[in-house]
Amino acid sequence: MTQDYDLIIHNGTVVDGSGRPSVQADVAVSRGLIAQIGDLSRSSSVTRIDAAGLVVAPGFIDLHSHTDLFLPALPTADSLVCQGITTVVTGQCGLSPAPLGTGNCRRTRELFGARLNRIGEIMPWPLCSHLGKYLDFLTQICLSVNVVPLVGQGVIRGAVMGGNPGSPDDSQRALMRHLAEEAMDEGAFGISTGLIYPPGSWSTTQELVDIVSCVAARGGMYFSHIRNEGEKLLESIREALEIGRLSGARVHISHFKAAGKCNCDKSVRALELLDKAAETQPLGMDMYPYTAGSTSLVSLLPDWALQGNRSDLFMRLKDPKQRRKMTSDMATGGLAQGNWEGVLIIQSESRPEYAGYRLSDLAAQSGLTPEEWLYDALLATHCDPMMVLFMMSEDNRRNEICHPLMAIGTDGFGLATAGLTSGIMTHPRSFGTFPRILGRYCREEKLISLETAVYKMTGLAASYLNLKDRGIIREASVADLTIFNPKTVIDTATYDCPKSYPKGIDTVLVAGQVVVSQGEHTGARPGKVIRRNG
Ligand SMILES: [Zn+2]
Repeated sequence: MTQDYDLIIHNGTVVDGSGRPSVQADVAVSRGLIAQIGDLSRSSSVTRIDAAGLVVAPGFIDLHSHTDLFLPALPTADSLVCQGITTVVTGQCGLSPAPLGTGNCRRTRELFGARLNRIGEIMPWPLCSHLGKYLDFLTQICLSVNVVPLVGQGVIRGAVMGGNPGSPDDSQRALMRHLAEEAMDEGAFGISTGLIYPPGSWSTTQELVDIVSCVAARGGMYFSHIRNEGEKLLESIREALEIGRLSGARVHISHFKAAGKCNCDKSVRALELLDKAAETQPLGMDMYPYTAGSTSLVSLLPDWALQGNRSDLFMRLKDPKQRRKMTSDMATGGLAQGNWEGVLIIQSESRPEYAGYRLSDLAAQSGLTPEEWLYDALLATHCDPMMVLFMMSEDNRRNEICHPLMAIGTDGFGLATAGLTSGIMTHPRSFGTFPRILGRYCREEKLISLETAVYKMTGLAASYLNLKDRGIIREASVADLTIFNPKTVIDTATYDCPKSYPKGIDTVLVAGQVVVSQGEHTGARPGKVIRRNG
């Protein structure tokens, strides 16, 4: 007997991702698409899921993911799909795995090094010459999540100019534009910058307008990890907006935050600035719901200290005069600004004994100032430690989540508690971001309604990306769906124990296939690399 549909989700509360009020309805899926929504009690299906008491939402869209670097080692992206994420936007903060250019592989691997540790050996480096080849590779290995790729401006600059902080000449500019255009033609949705990370940080506004313009000409977006999220937050947002206006690209502010205790008041002003700009230019933003960020320990140094290659950096770290200059610059600028107790080391492959300790405590134990400990530790570890940095205000985070333009991004990556990635530590956002919004900020604190929370995670994100067939539950859309219990959904990952799966995310479908069932990954890999115009 033939069935009406492949799958019907019965009796759920459908929160469709548009922001509209929820409705009680059944959802039918056939051939990977949403086939019907309504009372389907008389219809038959091959498979049925009973969603009584559960919310049926579009699969969550993670607008800021670094998991492209981890997918070759973990195509199942466990910690992401178990949060309900079905699509990730990769190639962020100027750091895409491609195009590395020729002869530049080693330098770029150094850039990625702290994040990757040993799994860097699994990266298909020879395929990283072109974004298209890397995306073909991801398609071949089959993923559990969909990937929306960006190309990283830092990587393009590195491919053309190495670690040279100077201005590009005309032929270098032309080559950078060419690489950006090529990546767009190979499927990128846009370009990203990471303007605190060399070599992207050496770029002037004009250089960025130049390269973003050729991306915009192909309909691409500009995702910006802005130049400064602390004392120069407002100036840095203005720069990103200006790049958008002059290039014609839609601007997206990545992992929005006001960093540093003395910059708390800047969050509200930055949001006002963005509100005003949104009247005249298209823009969006994302955030993760935590008061700490995470990056490599070496990012604490002033950017002049990071010029050139790693041996230049090590020379500076050994030189007492240069150390004094770094110390004085870090007192008033950069990420820490004297907040050494706010620096928690989460991982060091070469010095695992650092992990789990605050920088201030490690320095005190060794009888050194925090700065001198930092320089010694970077030398001893070849800059491999990763850190979590407590630098935001909870009141600001609550206010930011409520902003109508604010969508969600983990800024994390897919990990598992067993296998190749089990040794990699992380910020809890890699496991908990989306359930934390739903459990803590929506249910417990009632800052936003369930419909609004789901909209931020799905329909709003899809509208930023111009994804027409995902992000909203409607007929003929791709059947990426997340079914969760609104009464129990919550993150369980903490800074001390970050690799802990959330509760309450019951079932996750990607293109109609069950990737998570009763909270457990099924091993299914129906994800798709989504290419612009593809
Ligand atoms: Zn970033």
